[in-house]
Amino acid sequence: MPKRKPAQTSPQYAKVEQPFGMAPLMLRCPICGMVAIESERCPHLAFVYLSACGEFEYQSAEFAERFGKVDEDDFDLESFGDTLKTIGYGNQLLAIEVTYGGMACGPVWYTDVYGFDFGQEGSEEDEEE
Ligand SMILES: [Zn+2]
Repeated sequence: MPKRKPAQTSPQYAKVEQPFGMAPLMLRCPICGMVAIESERCPHLAFVYLSACGEFEYQSAEFAERFGKVDEDDFDLESFGDTLKTIGYGNQLLAIEVTYGGMACGPVWYTDVYGFDFGQEGSEEDEEE
């Protein structure tokens, strides 16, 4: 019998930085391929956090419920990965932090974080015939 991999319980947190001046990328859901910023959200998207506004642009019902337990004063982008673990997410959650910069009155950098929940099966119930 092959040995099972030990359970990994930390959310996966990836940080990427785009070259300065490059337009923010259209991040797609790694599971179904839908663009993460659109009016119609795919069922895997857990949240979209825009640090420029300091708020969530989108939260799934499940994420909103979990994150509701976090004291906003304790929330900080630097420890977002730890916060996700604290509220009970494991390695079924992939958070992608994207930093991009452009010119406003001077160079400005923005950081957005997208969360994808691989534990969400969505509405598709596969019934094979
Ligand atoms: Zn999806």
